[in-house]
Amino acid sequence: MIQSVAFIGLGAMGYRMAAHLPKHFNEVYVWNRNHDKAKQHAAEYGTQAVDLRQASQADVIFSCLPTSQEVDAILAQVQLKKGCIWVDCTSGVPEAAKAQALHLAAQGVHFLDAPVSGQTIGAENATLTFMVGGDSDAFQQARPAMQAMGQLIKHVGGSGAGFAVKAINNMMMAVHLCAAAEGFTTLKAHGVNLNEALACINASSGKSGVTETALPQRILNREFPLTFALPLLAKDTGIAIDLVREAKLSAPVIGLTQSLIQAANALAEPNSDFSTAIKLYESWSNITLE
Ligand code: NDP
Repeated sequence: MIQSVAFIGLGAMGYRMAAHLPKHFNEVYVWNRNHDKAKQHAAEYGTQAVDLRQASQADVIFSCLPTSQEVDAILAQVQLKKGCIWVDCTSGVPEAAKAQALHLAAQGVHFLDAPVSGQTIGAENATLTFMVGGDSDAFQQARPAMQAMGQLIKHVGGSGAGFAVKAINNMMMAVHLCAAAEGFTTLKAHGVNLNEALACINASSGKSGVTETALPQRILNREFPLTFALPLLAKDTGIAIDLVREAKLSAPVIGLTQSLIQAANALAEPNSDFSTAIKLYESWSNITLE
């Protein structure tokens, strides 16, 4: 039985995810580097803003930080309760998850790599997908806490498997983003009505998550709302290419997409949403997708 839950990292995802926990658990601790955000969360949702020492005493501890590096830094600072489960929702590095799981196992603690998909809207509506790697008994124990924030909760393998699935998912999204940018600049060059073209493609075999949501809701309306930062996507495509290399596979589409996303990220303004990657194509072609 889970009595207490903690959430570490109240960013674009974590702030919204942790908001659901008090509906299911009596004791919910939140910690954030900028402590004012934790206090604001407590006032808004009835969580308890605590220090790291107290957060680390919960039965299930979630983290959602930019990269595995920040998770390592936090893990190095805390003394955890034997038998607790650390559920890392960061889109992290599979090799880091293996090391983190080993490190915590020595303290009698389970580590699950449990990245999520569904973006901030999924975090807000508790409809996230959790892709989880690690011990299957620990997964079953922590499942009710993940269910408070998600809809599809899947155990995909041993330590690192969750992070691997997430990196490949985001790499595939990046491939779709590049394909959509190339396809739609070509259509515009031919004088096609892009909104009508989008309606046709979304009813046809070329559709993707990018054509269904990113193109109409971020790109063609020129809003580019910052909910998933481009540097975070560039980090994910980097993890994906490392997985390809470690497996000694040849994956030319992934390789090219990785280069394009890194280039787009290098040229982007600070605080750019992932969807602004298409501006790389716009600058090459002098065509604006609107
Ligand atoms: P944000 O940049 O919005 O939030 C980052 C969080 O990490 C903040 O709470 C920040 O604290 C904290 N943080 C940053 N650096 C440190 C540090 N050195 N020590 C302690 N805390 C730190 O990121 P997101 O919420 O967008 O993303 C978090 C993770 O979730 C990433 O791995 C991302 O790839 C993944 N993800 C994001 C999605 C999205 O749509 N945004 C969707 C799915 C996954 P502070 O407030 O003090 O800056």
